[in-house]
Amino acid sequence: MISGSGFFFLQQQLSTEEGAKMAAAQSDRDLPSALCAEFLNFSAKDTASRWLAAADLKQQVYRHLAVYVPRILCLGPSGGGSSREEQREEQREELACQLLLLAPMEWLLLGEEPSSGLALLQEKNQPSPLCGHVFKVGEPTYSCRECAADPTCVLCMQCFLGSVHKEHRYRMTTSGGGGFCDCGDAEAWKKGPYCQKHTPTDNNRDTEEDPVAQLPADMVARSYSIFSIILRYAVDMLTWDQEDQLPAGLEPPARGDTYYCMLFNDEVHTYEQVIYTLQKAVNCSQKEAVSFATTVDRDGRKSVRYGDFQFCEQAKSVIVRNTSRQSKPLRVEVMHSSVVAHQCFALKALSWLGQIIQYSDGLRRILCQVGLQIGPEGENSSLVDQLMLNDSKMWKGARNIYHQLLMNSLLMDLKYKKIFAIQFAKNYRRLQTDFMEDDHERVVSVTSLSVQLFTVPTMARMLMVEENLMTTIIRTFVDHLRHRDLQGRFQFDRYTAQQAFKFGRVQSLIGDLKYVLISRPSEWSDLLRLKFLEGLDAFLELLKCMQGMDPVVRQVGQHIEMEPEWEAAFTLQMKLTHIISMIQEWCSTDERVLIEAYRKCLSALSHCHSGLPDGEQPISLSLAGHCVETFRYQVSQDKVSIHLPVCRLLAGLHVLLSRTEVASRFPEQLPLGELSPPLLIELPLRCLVLCAQVHAGMWRRNGFSLINQIYYYHNVKCRVEMFDKDIIMLQAGASMMDPNHFLMIVLSRFELFHIFSSVDCRKRYREANKDVIQQNNTLIEEMLHLIIMVVGERYVSGVGQVEPFDEVRREIIHQLSIRPMAHSELVKALPENGNKETGLERVIDSVASFKKPGVTGRGLYELRPEWYKYFNLYFHHYSRADQSKAEEAQRKLRRQNGEDTALPPPLPPLLCPLFASLVNLLQCDVLLAVEGAVLQWAVEPSGGGWTESMLQRVLHLVGVALLEEQQQLENSSGDDDVTFNYTCKISRPGEAPSTSGSVLALLESLQNAPHLEVHKDMITWILKMVANIKTMRERTSSSSSVTISQGQGPEEMVRDRDKAERKRKAEMARLRREKIMAQMSEMQKHFINENKELFQQSLEDLEASGSPADTSPPSLEQSGVSQVCVGPRRMGGAKHRQLVTCILCQEEQEVRGHGRAMVLAAFVQRSTVLSKNRLRNLPDPEHHDPLFMHPDLSLGIHTASCGHIMHATCWQRYFESVQLKEQRRQQRLRGHTSYDVENGEFLCPLCECLSNTVIPLLPHTHSPDHSVDHPSLEAWLKTTNQHIAALHVAHRKQSEGVSEGAEPVVPEGFRVDFTPQNPFSSSVSEMITTFSMSTYKVGLKLNPNEQDPRVQVLIWSTCAYTIQSIERLLMDEEKPLFGSLPCRQDDCLSSLTRFSSSCWTAAPPATAHTHCIRLLSALVPDSQVENTPCVLDIDMFHLLVYSVLSYSSVHSLDQSRQRVVDSAHLHLLHLITVAHLVQILLTSTTEEVCMDEDSVGSEEEEFTCQLYNTLRNHLGSVLPEVSSGWQLCRCVKAGVLPFLRAAALFFHYLNSTAPPADLLVAGPGQWEALCSYLSLPSNLLQLYQSQHTLLEPLIHRWCCHPGVRQTLRGGGVIVRFPRESNRLIDLPEDYSVLINQASSFTCPRSGGDKSRAPTLCLVCGSMLCSQSYCCQTEVDGEDVGACTAHTFTCGAGLGLFLRVRESQVLFVAGKTKGCFHPPPYLDDYGETDQGLKRGNPLHLCAERYRKIERLWRDHGIAEVIGHAQEANQTLVAIDWQHL
Ligand SMILES: [Zn+2]
Ligand SMILES: [Zn+2]
Ligand SMILES: [Zn+2]
Ligand SMILES: [Zn+2]
Ligand SMILES: [Zn+2]
Ligand SMILES: [Zn+2]
Ligand SMILES: [Zn+2]
Repeated sequence: MISGSGFFFLQQQLSTEEGAKMAAAQSDRDLPSALCAEFLNFSAKDTASRWLAAADLKQQVYRHLAVYVPRILCLGPSGGGSSREEQREEQREELACQLLLLAPMEWLLLGEEPSSGLALLQEKNQPSPLCGHVFKVGEPTYSCRECAADPTCVLCMQCFLGSVHKEHRYRMTTSGGGGFCDCGDAEAWKKGPYCQKHTPTDNNRDTEEDPVAQLPADMVARSYSIFSIILRYAVDMLTWDQEDQLPAGLEPPARGDTYYCMLFNDEVHTYEQVIYTLQKAVNCSQKEAVSFATTVDRDGRKSVRYGDFQFCEQAKSVIVRNTSRQSKPLRVEVMHSSVVAHQCFALKALSWLGQIIQYSDGLRRILCQVGLQIGPEGENSSLVDQLMLNDSKMWKGARNIYHQLLMNSLLMDLKYKKIFAIQFAKNYRRLQTDFMEDDHERVVSVTSLSVQLFTVPTMARMLMVEENLMTTIIRTFVDHLRHRDLQGRFQFDRYTAQQAFKFGRVQSLIGDLKYVLISRPSEWSDLLRLKFLEGLDAFLELLKCMQGMDPVVRQVGQHIEMEPEWEAAFTLQMKLTHIISMIQEWCSTDERVLIEAYRKCLSALSHCHSGLPDGEQPISLSLAGHCVETFRYQVSQDKVSIHLPVCRLLAGLHVLLSRTEVASRFPEQLPLGELSPPLLIELPLRCLVLCAQVHAGMWRRNGFSLINQIYYYHNVKCRVEMFDKDIIMLQAGASMMDPNHFLMIVLSRFELFHIFSSVDCRKRYREANKDVIQQNNTLIEEMLHLIIMVVGERYVSGVGQVEPFDEVRREIIHQLSIRPMAHSELVKALPENGNKETGLERVIDSVASFKKPGVTGRGLYELRPEWYKYFNLYFHHYSRADQSKAEEAQRKLRRQNGEDTALPPPLPPLLCPLFASLVNLLQCDVLLAVEGAVLQWAVEPSGGGWTESMLQRVLHLVGVALLEEQQQLENSSGDDDVTFNYTCKISRPGEAPSTSGSVLALLESLQNAPHLEVHKDMITWILKMVANIKTMRERTSSSSSVTISQGQGPEEMVRDRDKAERKRKAEMARLRREKIMAQMSEMQKHFINENKELFQQSLEDLEASGSPADTSPPSLEQSGVSQVCVGPRRMGGAKHRQLVTCILCQEEQEVRGHGRAMVLAAFVQRSTVLSKNRLRNLPDPEHHDPLFMHPDLSLGIHTASCGHIMHATCWQRYFESVQLKEQRRQQRLRGHTSYDVENGEFLCPLCECLSNTVIPLLPHTHSPDHSVDHPSLEAWLKTTNQHIAALHVAHRKQSEGVSEGAEPVVPEGFRVDFTPQNPFSSSVSEMITTFSMSTYKVGLKLNPNEQDPRVQVLIWSTCAYTIQSIERLLMDEEKPLFGSLPCRQDDCLSSLTRFSSSCWTAAPPATAHTHCIRLLSALVPDSQVENTPCVLDIDMFHLLVYSVLSYSSVHSLDQSRQRVVDSAHLHLLHLITVAHLVQILLTSTTEEVCMDEDSVGSEEEEFTCQLYNTLRNHLGSVLPEVSSGWQLCRCVKAGVLPFLRAAALFFHYLNSTAPPADLLVAGPGQWEALCSYLSLPSNLLQLYQSQHTLLEPLIHRWCCHPGVRQTLRGGGVIVRFPRESNRLIDLPEDYSVLINQASSFTCPRSGGDKSRAPTLCLVCGSMLCSQSYCCQTEVDGEDVGACTAHTFTCGAGLGLFLRVRESQVLFVAGKTKGCFHPPPYLDDYGETDQGLKRGNPLHLCAERYRKIERLWRDHGIAEVIGHAQEANQTLVAIDWQHL
């Protein structure tokens, strides 16, 4: 709140004189200034007291509003955008509203100064313990999976952190906006309803006490009147529908011809359409149009034009005309400015009310009373009613504000929440109907408040009892589904987008119903029973409309013409699944309700069944001596439907009768006698037969819609209330019937009866038609499977004697029997209940062990071995694919354990009494006949008469029966009560007509049949079982039970084990073969197919290159002599031949300057990885001078290579073919590839690594000439100076054509005009140019220009930068400097360095000379060179590389003495090292630490101090005084180390010198080894000391450079040494911290709006507003999203981001390339959650984050993108630049 504190601002606005003048100029725009005079005179206090004194308060207030509102608000055009002026205008309005309009009301209300009055109110207030924090879009919300009453109960982050639930299993999601924190609501939490902050204390008032009583009586009276006036005013204005008129009492004193053209939001038109239309209609820029559209989308309306009526009308007609073509036009209204102003103020007034009541619960209650007070018109006349009922007419912004007010007031007050809920329920049907017509999203509809009301269990129950809510919701729902067929069943049209939208709206009703039913009642009242059963009636009506919908008829002859609609019906079924389950749960809690519900459901079913057997002829079936009556019906010919919800509900209730034991306790109350079992099973059986026939291929012509339906029927989302219940219904039916009858009906419905009933059925019926045989085979398999399920599926509590716990456990065991699975996979495979729980966590740890993930992949659960025995091959939820995978896995497992491979059925649980007779199916005559028949068929090896699966199923059934018998025997006390005697029955020989052997005899004869080897183990198992049972039966008299002995004879065991071992070996061999085959085909796919052997070879090369490089090239001797890599004493050089093989033509080739050029595939990119200054602007390509690299390394060029070598000609041919292919492809389809051919990109032909150029391989440098003398530094400097002077003269001569002054002394043999011979063949030269141009193009972003003198510099630069970046990586990973790089990097650096040293030969010599002269001038000041940067602005390593490499060109002119070039390199190194030491000392910051000064400083320390003092002499007080030489010395050593390491790498590659042994390992002694390798003294300061006189003047000159003093005084960026390595930003451990950060992040462009896709730059930590119009920026003439734009400043075109809402890492490169990468956050199950769908708490995985960081520092991002895009073509199509 701001109250009366804004005068300061006002007075600033208004220097009185000017204000008066402006007031005189009475234009529209100046109106606010005109008001200003009144501001000063206006007194809120006086106005308030005047109002109080008046007789009619309302009239007074209205008059005030009528005068001021149009003068303050909505004055003139509001542009599209957030220009500063507009923001100021808004602030002015805000302030004026507060001072002139709201302040008087506050005075009136409080009777005193508002700020102190409100403070007082707040102090006295005893707040209710409800938190009520209203969620912003994207804010994290938490729910406890253990304690929340339902998943809609959530906590805000603050409350969560202070609650007990943070130690529980919780779920984290992001809010979609709306809704509030449930902390403090005792009903929402089973445990811990209060956080620390909201825990009620003794001070809290009793909830029963009326908070109004706490307020002074006069204030209560005043609040009533002012609240009712304001609320009435706001309601009138928001529901006002006249554009030109105002309500009575509000007409403005003066009315101008000023109108707004107001554009409203709809959900029909797209952003683009609106933007396009606006540009045309109101003639605005694209940018303004975007801003208009954004506001319309956000607020629901926006004025797009201001002016006279005519002017606005005109815009309106253009908009309407433009948008009415395909659809309903955009809604536009021309409104008078005063109307708009009042509406605008009405919103402000509502917000004000919302804020005021936060100060006092008393005021809140008063507002509630005012809002719900019934008006004179009677029902639905309260203000709140009026708002609700007009909800769909209001625009989005208005709705949001009043919804927010409702949440802050009514929903926070327990008493009025109830009254409001009743009003809401009363109006429910009307509100929902309005919502159906409305085209806004549900979150902005008042109907969405249902979640706040209905999820409170007591409230829901109250509404159910008092307002019959359950029935109302269901009836409203049924009424809105109007599509019916002739029988009154639902019939949906084709599922179009439009329909999906409407249908989606209707479904929100199901959501409401779910809220009402989500918590079961703990106790029932009679009224609740009554209303629930009434609701059930309505629900059954709904189900009846679904029963039999979308019937299908088998198509024969031709295909169906149009796929029938099926999705809508399944969507409906899916949405209702939880409701159906919940209704059953409700029923299970009360016996009376259950019985009544069962009756109702049964009668509904009989209603559906009426007419089922009508008109069908009864037929009589007989088989195996049994006979049954049924009627003629064939699934393959008649109509059949998958939708049978009434049957299935009855099946569910039937199980409950058994589970609750109601069936046994109150049998007399149950209408069990009315059940006709054959009718009960009829429809579910048809449905299951339909599935079987579809499997058998009989319904092929019915198209995909049927396949989809069958899929969903079994799918985890539907099966609980579809497939599962059908099985249960069959079980219920079978348990009530003669098993023989049941099976005969099954056979008949499967259309298989004739096969088993024929006289000679045991001789397989020979059909001529092969298709028919196959069909029948599949049908028999399916039928056997069905029987297995009917007798074997007992894991439903109520069917078998199990707990719900066992059911989940069994599901998990069977999932994990397929393979180890991740947590999320398991969750997906299990059905969720209404609370989104699967019960997984309760059992998972008892059956599985968890394996943690590595740096990639995810954590997996693995089944514990003790659970293997529960595996059932015919588990009813396995698909055929699952089944075969599980079978294979289980057999393999058993083989590995050396066990036999039989997969016998597991021991089934006992059946409940109601289902007990099911077991008789196993031993009934019909089944035995079927089993006998199949076994008999199996005697014949082949012939198509039977299948292995058929036999396997029969064996399984036999196994189940034997287990059953064994179990009964074990559980029986005496032998009399075991009625189940399967062993006896199968021992009986076959009865007539089939006279062959008994089932047992058949099995015995099959045991050794050679064609049944696979089944042998199983048959053996069965026979052993039979023997065991026989023994048991013999022993029963003694009641001792015997379990099957697993014992085997020893010889047998050995033999089996041998066999297993042989099998295992064969299996291994097969796997190896398969792997090789897979590799081969992969290779063939990617690469040249013609020459397989050659290919094999190159593959081996590839493998070799993956391992670290050999410590040195093999031919380089590694002697004990200390190695030196630079200077005249250096070792190594071109003593040996370099042989390489081309990966394309496989020819071997020696690398020679004059030979055929060999090249290395390479990728050159810009890099900011080492940047110490991301604020530095990118250089202007035309004028950038790259010769001196600034030590902030803000932009470099990095080169990488996969290390694959080709002939230049081979590569060229390959690249041309790539280009050609790309051209052809572009003509066909106009997408991108993963690589940009136009920019020279290609994939390495061998490893597919992204490349964009090639580096030519050049020979090693010559060995040093040890014969020449090494000139001293002084001598060398002198000669060099002479050389330079001569060159200066020569250049001047050339450019000016005159020679003036004396010719300088030219040393002997130095010829300025000498042009050295090009040492390279044309093919090598050509490749030199190729690589040079690529580097130039990438480095400067310019078109290639061979004449540009900067070409060489860029090559040197990429050489230096790449070495530096690799040195950093090695350092940070604590790897030795040499020997740890992978081959490819080693090869790359070596060829890059050698190339850089020779590239000057491709350019005119003068260019290189100029560079060299300028570079030297930075060290040895040269009066002829201007603009030399100071030592603080030069990166010394770059300087070293550049000057060494450029020196060769100058040196080549010296024809006198060859080979002193090495001496020059050494001198350059020494000089630059000294310069670097100076640089380090100048920038050092040593904190004074008290060291024991007593210890005598070493020589090193002494020298360091001396140098530092010299510098202080030159620079004076700019440098601080440092007393500790020890510290300085340490600082210098640390600072210079990276330079020395990089220099060592550089000279190593330049001169091919083997590294010393000490540098091949990490460890002590590095410093000395490094110095000696570089030919430097280990006390570096000696360099300075020994050449004191020579260096002193140079140091003096360096320090005198004005830049030094300026920088040190803070005039520039000071880079200190050693430069700290860049890392990715630190991420919080807990992901929700990030979500919270992102939710408070607002778009930087559109004034305070929440960003939709907040995205975090991992490099610099900026939060960006991605994927949104508002933050698009133009980059190179194209609009790009915030991320892409950011990469251009932060990462030179390459970026790494974290998309916070999606929990996804985003890599982008340039404008067209990008990919997503798994985030470094894992849940407790070792899985990432991309898209934040699962809601498990996420924690940072440091290793994964480091891996991403490494990828970035290693410059590997572009390559990862390339590979990702190559692997997934959809990534290529994404418009990455819009992110
Ligand atoms: Zn809270
Ligand atoms: Zn709280
Ligand atoms: Zn909890
Ligand atoms: Zn080749
Ligand atoms: Zn490669
Ligand atoms: Zn950044
Ligand atoms: Zn934005």
